[in-house]
Amino acid sequence: MLITTFSIPTFRKQSVSARLDKLVKKAAKYGNPDIGYSFGATRIEEVATDSGPCKVEYIDINIDGEAPKIGDWQLLARVEIAKNLSENLIHTVPGSDIQLDGGYRTHNGHCDHCNTNRPRNDVYVLTDGDTQIAVGRTCLRDFLGIDDPKAIVNRAQFFEEIRSFEADDELDFGGASMFLLKEILSVSAASIRKVGYVSRARANEIGGETTGEFVKGNLCGYNGYGIEVTEEDRAWAEKTIDFFRSADQFDNDYMNNIRVLMETDIVELKHIALIASAVITAQRALAPKQETKESNFVGEVKQRLKGLTLILDRIIYLGSGYYGSSYLHLFKDSDGNAFSWVTGNKMMIDEGTTINVDATVKQHKEYKGTKQTVLTRAKMIA
Ligand SMILES: [Zn+2]
Repeated sequence: MLITTFSIPTFRKQSVSARLDKLVKKAAKYGNPDIGYSFGATRIEEVATDSGPCKVEYIDINIDGEAPKIGDWQLLARVEIAKNLSENLIHTVPGSDIQLDGGYRTHNGHCDHCNTNRPRNDVYVLTDGDTQIAVGRTCLRDFLGIDDPKAIVNRAQFFEEIRSFEADDELDFGGASMFLLKEILSVSAASIRKVGYVSRARANEIGGETTGEFVKGNLCGYNGYGIEVTEEDRAWAEKTIDFFRSADQFDNDYMNNIRVLMETDIVELKHIALIASAVITAQRALAPKQETKESNFVGEVKQRLKGLTLILDRIIYLGSGYYGSSYLHLFKDSDGNAFSWVTGNKMMIDEGTTINVDATVKQHKEYKGTKQTVLTRAKMIA
């Protein structure tokens, strides 16, 4: 029989499941072997947070068991007698449609079994279907004719603890390693604005950390982190979310993974790097398309070209061999012609820097459909 259903944010599933396993085990140990649970449907809800409305996935948890009966009596509630409060607290036990009689909010802790009024922390409300009575904890044994009233006490506790799962501050991400989507994207945008996007490959090349690692350091509050996020960065976060949410489907797994992760506004720690990369992806996709000029071969093979003006596109480390390390330098000239030069000495200039060189044409080749003039013996000139 379904006793009760409650919902938790799905990211809590694992920890709640672990706690439920313990509770069910404890319930069985104290004479409630019928209690069990199962996960049900999920749904996405919008909830309010300090950072504005936030989409969160919730999952149902169904608690199954029998109505708690001992002999002819069924437990309805535990009434916690008020000490410093104006009224008693009533902890009903789910699994019964029976309404509690009025008056328990102001019940004085009187035990209907021994008919005494001594100070009690709580009384248990039982019914035989006809009348409802309140019995003190120590009288439960006597009244119900069972050796160990722990079963019934524990059963009441079981449901009270389950209620506390729901009452927990649901969106306190700290312990659960959850982060707000918008925060990750804003910090990523700030990082890209300051130092450019650093992929894993680029981090290996230049030494240092990736944009994803940097974002994680900031969000986890590690020492030495603390980037300033501007309005412009937050705007990029919004644009990135819009970009991924407005698409039904992308043509690659990478972007579809981000699309799926962005169905809610909270992100697990392990997905931060992937989400952090979404900003640059959106920025590139939304950037006005530059008209790319077609690349043509320059000069003749073996010709010495004098006074070439080249813009460094990028440097690719090719690895090291018998003769040491080698680096592929890719350039363009102002007409859009592509050049390449492999050398053992990495040029110490930034991408986008313009240089003047004399160089010899080693080869004319096509690389991925682009005509490329391969240079050798390049020499920087003033
Ligand atoms: Zn009593």
